[in-house]
Amino acid sequence: MTSFQDFGLADPISRALKEENYLTPTPIQAQTVPLAMTGRDVVGIAQTGTGKTAAFALPILHRILENRVRVQPKSCRVLVLSPTRELSGQILDSFNAYGRHIRLTSTLAIGGVPMGRQVRSLMQGVEVLVATPGRLLDLVQSNGLKLGQVEFLVLDEADRMLDMGFINDIRKIVGKLPIKRQTLFFSATMPKDIAELAEAMLRDPARVAVTPVASTVERITQRIIQVDFAAKAGILAQLLKQEPVDRALIFTRTKHGADKVVKGLAKVGIRADAIHGNKSQNNRERALAAFRSGEIRTLVATDIAARGIDVDGISHVFNFDLPNVPETYVHRIGRTARAGAEGVAISLIAGAEEMGYLRDIERLIRVALPREDRRTPGTRDTAPAPSQKPSQNRGARSAPRGHAANGHSHGGRSHEQSPGSKGPRRPRRGGGNNAASQPTRHESPRPAQGGNSEGIQGVAFLHRESRPNTQPNRTHRPQR
Ligand code: AMP
Repeated sequence: MTSFQDFGLADPISRALKEENYLTPTPIQAQTVPLAMTGRDVVGIAQTGTGKTAAFALPILHRILENRVRVQPKSCRVLVLSPTRELSGQILDSFNAYGRHIRLTSTLAIGGVPMGRQVRSLMQGVEVLVATPGRLLDLVQSNGLKLGQVEFLVLDEADRMLDMGFINDIRKIVGKLPIKRQTLFFSATMPKDIAELAEAMLRDPARVAVTPVASTVERITQRIIQVDFAAKAGILAQLLKQEPVDRALIFTRTKHGADKVVKGLAKVGIRADAIHGNKSQNNRERALAAFRSGEIRTLVATDIAARGIDVDGISHVFNFDLPNVPETYVHRIGRTARAGAEGVAISLIAGAEEMGYLRDIERLIRVALPREDRRTPGTRDTAPAPSQKPSQNRGARSAPRGHAANGHSHGGRSHEQSPGSKGPRRPRRGGGNNAASQPTRHESPRPAQGGNSEGIQGVAFLHRESRPNTQPNRTHRPQR
């Protein structure tokens, strides 16, 4: 699949794509769009940044156009469930952008804002409703919304929804939907509970997947520092003070660990905030907004909470703990060096277990990472040096090589970035060319743990186009 033309999307949609400067489908789009256009259920493993929103929005818009029917009052034809308000706003923006020539009606139903306006927006019915699960149920329970006309259901970032405790809400919602519908289900990881949820919701789904790659990694200076467990916090603080940090994202494996790091940094005068599943949505959004605006330069996050964070100008990623899934390392460090920029990723490694994780990572990215040893003498035998050598030893920095990500750089600030933000503005996206990316297809959902590093191929991460409008109550109803 080399161009969007090959999909045979309805003309108004193709026109909108041209205007968006989308030239080449991304791997997840190349796999998903043709399947979904035939009406098949799809389960996809893909991260934010791979173009998955268009992967589900385009075929749905095409199918809506093929059979334009009147939407009943208080109803919708397309229901998209997403974990957060921010992501919901972005998804709605995307639908409206791709549907700009088809007089699409759409609105948001998200928590944290008064329900009255959402009830009014839904009064006449809309074609596309993007919602967070809790608010959607509230609307249904208060008779503001009926789900009997839903023909298309999208579940986006399913793993994050589970992490945020939405599983029961999702089950309830799905129980109220017509059996005859098309369901598109996306998750960045596919552990057992997500696979079971997908199994219960989908009918004979096609499976698609993309995995991240070395190409993202190549512009990132990677440092591995061997430390004693007890010294991690101190060394992190030192590094944050010494390094020319613009914005730093620090990853920990656990929520508790994230809080501990924030407290430790506060003790030495470094202001940081944490985002993870135990924080309220308001809390998380406030922390993210402060990080975007440059009010805080250091954000500590768990992997799931960090997903979907789309912040420009992250100069440094720190791995306070190494992840036990090697692909996660690539996701993490891919937060820096976006849009062609260079970045630094520093991992603190203590003990044999983390050293094992490091070897898995090196095998995946096919780079041997030089170690800096800051352990106190006498403890050094606890974390042996690597015994196997990955195929290449290119040192800490790999030379940039035809970055796929460059083709996807784009303009504008992220939604919540304040005008005073220090983050570099990205150049306007000049037409995606994802030539360096290769789709990977998995015939069955891939377990999140113990990821197999063989056969991983390239996927460039795209950067979300900022569209100006993220007000919580946004109904799109063109004049008829
Ligand atoms: P997503 O993964 O859906 O959040 O998309 C990430 C960003 O990539 C968004 O800003 C999209 O507008 C952009 N994008 C998606 N598909 C393409 C494409 N085929 N070509 C260029 N940009 C794209």
